[in-house]
Amino acid sequence: MSNLERDPGEVLLEQRPAGAGPGPAIEILEPRDVPLGGPRAMSVRRTLPQRARSLIGAWCFLDHYGPDDVARTGGMDVPPHPHTGLQTVSWLFRGEIEHRDSVGTVSLVRPGELNLMTAGRGIQHSERSTPGTEVLHGAQLWIALPDGARDVAPAFEAVPAAPLELGDARVQVFLGGLGAARAEARVFSELVAAQIDLPAGGSTELPLDPAFEHGLLVDAGDATVEGYRVAPAHLAYLEPGRASLRVTSGASPTRALLIGGRPLGESIVMWWNFVGRAHDDVAEARARWQAEVIGGGDPAGRFGDIPTDPGPPLPAPELPNLRLKPRG
Ligand code: MN
Repeated sequence: MSNLERDPGEVLLEQRPAGAGPGPAIEILEPRDVPLGGPRAMSVRRTLPQRARSLIGAWCFLDHYGPDDVARTGGMDVPPHPHTGLQTVSWLFRGEIEHRDSVGTVSLVRPGELNLMTAGRGIQHSERSTPGTEVLHGAQLWIALPDGARDVAPAFEAVPAAPLELGDARVQVFLGGLGAARAEARVFSELVAAQIDLPAGGSTELPLDPAFEHGLLVDAGDATVEGYRVAPAHLAYLEPGRASLRVTSGASPTRALLIGGRPLGESIVMWWNFVGRAHDDVAEARARWQAEVIGGGDPAGRFGDIPTDPGPPLPAPELPNLRLKPRG
């Protein structure tokens, strides 16, 4: 997915800052709608980054979408665009997306299967919902690569999730480990991601790594997280220090995504589809994309080439006049 907006606003619905009550703090973060662009333009609900919170572990971006009637929204149709310094995680609840990238991948993203793309020093990819997809529903997340790994070679892998039952919940672990389940995919910092499905009236106690901070994105249902009601599309942020997390479901089944990780401990600059450590990193990546791919100077340069994609590639927006400052 390509980030087509750059003016984040945020609303904090509820906050219990550290030290203001018993136990580690919980914040409920509200999503904002962002159109993906194009004539019919499906829109996504973005919960990361926002002013109140820019990182959860190394997770730096969370877009949640659907269920969308593709006949109405046009589905996902994102032409080739670049990434640097991050990994992209594509996770679907429903529908199918064709992913193509410049390391030669053609992959169908399907529910229950992680698609993990490592951009490292540079990659380009396209993402389009398939013609047979009537309803599209899922999430795309980005993981910032730690400084020592942000120039690794680009790579792609598709891996089925590791299933697990915890209390009443059916859990699909797709990155890192949770309870007895561990996902296979390669990451560069300590983190976790899992889909949690809880029947109406059900409850579960998820075992957490107390060194991690976590986010629980509620996709559907009326969920209660440690006593806090969390409406669909909202993200509950949980600061480090928790060994478990109690989630209960009301009158309808709950579906949620759990993400977490050890606090990154690094400040990053994120602009458009690039993650760096300083303004000059993203300015350099933008200049190379514009010169090599959009301008046709070296189509197989830093970002490689996708010979099988009809394109045309997405030009980068203008850089803001201000020098971008690190966050995190
Ligand atoms: Mn992308």
